[in-house]
Amino acid sequence: MPGPLDAPLTRQVGATMAKKLEALGLRTSGDLLRHLPRRYADAGSLTDLASVAVGEHVSILARVRSARSRQMQARRGAMLEAVVTDGHREMSLTFFARGAGALRSHEARLRPGRVGVFSGVVKVYRGMLQLTHPDYHVVGVDADDEAAALVEASRPMPIYPASAGAETWRIQKAVRTVLDPLRPGDVPEPVPVEVRARHGLQTAFQAMHDLHAPYDDDQWRRGQRYARFEEAFVLQVALARRRALVADQDAVARPGAPAGTRGILAAFDDRLPFTLTQGQREVGDRIAADLARPHPMQRLLQGEVGSGKTVVALRAMLQVVDSGGQAALLAPTEVLAGQHLRTLRTLLGELAEEGMLGAAERATRVVLLTGSLPAAARKEALLDAASGRAGIVVGTHALLGDQVRFADLGLVVVDEQHRFGVEQRDVLRSRGGTTPHLLVMTATPIPRTVAMTVFGDLETSTLAEVPAGRPGVTTHVVPADRPSWLERAWQRVREEVDAGHRVYVVCPRITADDDVGADPSADKDPTDATDDADLLADEPPGTVPGQADRPVRPPLRAVEEVAAQLRTTAVLEGVPVGVLHGRLPAAEKEEAVRRFASGEVPVLVSTTVVEVGVDVPEATVMVVLDADRFGLSQLHQLRGRVGRGTAPGLCLLVSAAPDGSDASVRLRTLAETTDGFRLASVDLELRKEGDVLGASQSGSARSLRILRVVHDAEVIVAAREDAEQVVAADPELVEWPDLRRAIETWLDPEREEFLERT
Ligand code: ADP
Ligand code: MG
Repeated sequence: MPGPLDAPLTRQVGATMAKKLEALGLRTSGDLLRHLPRRYADAGSLTDLASVAVGEHVSILARVRSARSRQMQARRGAMLEAVVTDGHREMSLTFFARGAGALRSHEARLRPGRVGVFSGVVKVYRGMLQLTHPDYHVVGVDADDEAAALVEASRPMPIYPASAGAETWRIQKAVRTVLDPLRPGDVPEPVPVEVRARHGLQTAFQAMHDLHAPYDDDQWRRGQRYARFEEAFVLQVALARRRALVADQDAVARPGAPAGTRGILAAFDDRLPFTLTQGQREVGDRIAADLARPHPMQRLLQGEVGSGKTVVALRAMLQVVDSGGQAALLAPTEVLAGQHLRTLRTLLGELAEEGMLGAAERATRVVLLTGSLPAAARKEALLDAASGRAGIVVGTHALLGDQVRFADLGLVVVDEQHRFGVEQRDVLRSRGGTTPHLLVMTATPIPRTVAMTVFGDLETSTLAEVPAGRPGVTTHVVPADRPSWLERAWQRVREEVDAGHRVYVVCPRITADDDVGADPSADKDPTDATDDADLLADEPPGTVPGQADRPVRPPLRAVEEVAAQLRTTAVLEGVPVGVLHGRLPAAEKEEAVRRFASGEVPVLVSTTVVEVGVDVPEATVMVVLDADRFGLSQLHQLRGRVGRGTAPGLCLLVSAAPDGSDASVRLRTLAETTDGFRLASVDLELRKEGDVLGASQSGSARSLRILRVVHDAEVIVAAREDAEQVVAADPELVEWPDLRRAIETWLDPEREEFLERT
C-alpha cells in the first residue's frame, strides 16, 4: 500500500525542482528523505556586520531597511532586493524567481523596520556585501522574538550532497516541504520496536527530523546513529532471510566413504607429503560435517595466499567423490583453471588416473573444461562430466554453459570469489535436481564485518596460519626517479635468475597505446573470465588515491614495451623474457606459464593476470612497475606469488608517487606489514566505501548511504544478531510489513545484483 513517502516529488516541490532532484536519483518523497546531509555546518553564533568575511557562512541580526522586487531586464525573471542594516553598515539580500509572484511571500515578510536573523554565505556584488537566498527568521513572523529568531538561526545547517541546479539550500527547502507536514504514522518503521528499545533508538519519524532539521548537534548525531543501525539492520535481515532460504533447501548428504571402508580421501591423506596445519584440519572438519548434512553448505573459506586452501578444497571434493558424487572447481581464468588441473593431478598422483594402467584402485578422473578447448577434447570432457566418470571437473565460466551436464554434481568450489558473481554460482546451483554444496575460496583477506556485509549469505572459515617453513617476502619501495636504484633492482633480478629462480615483472598496461582502463576484454573469449579486467580494478582511473592533485606523470609502463626493453638491458643479457596478458590466445598463455614454471623463460612480464593463484615455487622476485596505480590488497596478492618455495621472496614496488602522497603512504604501509587483514582494513579506509560493495559506478542512491563497513563494525555485528532473531521468529516478516518493504526497496533487482557481487 503506497504511503505519503511514495508520492512523486513533482507534486510536492514542483516540476522544475523535481527534475533537478531526479538527476540526483531522487523521485519520491521517501527518496528525498533518504538523501541524508553529508555534514552539518555550524550556523554559529551571531556575526557582527563589521566583521563578516567574504565566502563565510554567517548569521547576522539586522533590521530591514528596504525591500523591492522588480522584473529583470538582462534575463527573464524577477528579483527581490532587500537592504538590511545593523545601524552602522548595510548588506543586501537578493532573491531570484521566475516571476514576481514567487517573491511575494518574501516581500510580505521583509517589511521595512522588521528585525530578523539572516544566514547565508557572504558575497560581494558591486562593492556591497550580499547574501543570496539567505535563510532567515523575522521577528513577529517566523519567530516570536529576537531570542527565538536566534535559536532558529543557530540550528546546525544540514549540508546535502548537491548538484548544479540543486544546491544544498534548495534541497534543504525541498526536504522541509516534504518533512514538515508528515505525521508519525507516515514514516515507515522498519526496525521493530523491541529492537529499537534494546539499542535506545528513537523512531524513524523522529530520526528524520533529527537528521534533516536538528536543533543541535546531539540531535543529528542521534539521527545518524539511528540511520546507521537501520541500514545495517535492513541489510542483515535481507541476508539472514537469504541464508535461511538456502539452508532450507534440500541437498544430498555426502558423508564420504561408507563406514568401515577406505575411500579415495583416506588414500589421498596417506600420500600427502606434509602434515595438515591445525587450521586445515579444523576447517576440514567443519566442511566435512557440512557436507554430511542434507542441506547445502554455504561456506566462504578465506586464507592468505599460500595458506593451503587448495588442499582443503581437494579433500572436500574427495569426500564427495567417496559419496558417489562429483565436484566442480571454478577458476576465474583459463590460466588458473589449467594450473588447478595440474596441481590437483600432481597432488592426487595415481589417484587421478582412473581408467589408466597402473591407476590406484580408488582412482577417479580429473578433467579440464574451458571455452578454448579443442573440439575433441571438449567433447570428451563433456562426456566424462555427464557420465560421472570424472569425479572432479575443473574449469572457468564455461562450466556454467548450458551444454555442461553432470551425472551427479555434489559440490561446487569457487576459487577466488571476487571474480565471480553470485548469479553465476546460482546458475550452477540451480541446475539439476538438488542444490550442490558450495565452497567459496578467497585469498583477499576480508575483515569480519565486510564478510558479514558482502558475503553475508555465506558462513566464513579462515585459515589463519601459513604452513610452517615459508621463508616469506621482503618488500621495498623503489623510487622511479632514482636511476641508480632501478639499476640495482634489475641487478637483483639478474642475481636471482643466475641462482635458478624466477622473476615476475608486473605492469599496469598491455601495450603502450592502451588507455588505462580501456576495455581490456575487448577481444577475448567471452566465456572466460577477464584476465585483465582486474587491471586497476581496485581503483578506476581518476579515482586513484593521491592522484587527483598530481601533475601529468610519465605514461604508465606497458607489458610489451617493458619486455622489449628488458631484452636489451645489458644487465639481463642472455636472459629470456616472456610475456603474459589476457589478450594472448589461451594456448599462448598456457605456454607462457609453462615455460616460466619450467625455468626456460625465467623472467615473465605480465599484467595482473598473475595476481591470483599462479603457483611457481621457484619464483623469488616480484617487480611491480607503477606500483602506485594498484590497490593495496592487489599488491599484497601480487607479492604473495613469491617466496612460496624454499628461497625467500623479494617484492620491489617501483613508484613515481611523491613522498607524502596518499599513494606513497600506501606503498610504505605495504612494505611495513605482511598482515593481510590489516592491509585490507587500511585499503578499505582509504577508498570510498561504495567501492567496497562494487557500487562505485552507479552513483545513485544505491550504495550504502551512511553505514561504513569498517568503521561501523559494531553496528553491523549488533544488527546481525537482531536480524537473526527477528528472522528466526518470523521468517516471512508477517509482523513487520515496513521491514519487508524496506528490504524489497533496498533489494530491487539492480541492487540485489550489487549485493551479491564483489
Ligand atoms: P592457497 O591456495 O591458499 O594460496 P595452496 O593451497 O596453493 O595455497 O598452497 C600453497 C602451497 O603450500 C602448495 O604448494 C601446497 O602444496 C603447500 N601446502 C599446503 N598445505 C601445506 C601444509 N600443511 N604443509 C606444507 N605445505 C603445504
Ligand atoms: Mg590458491
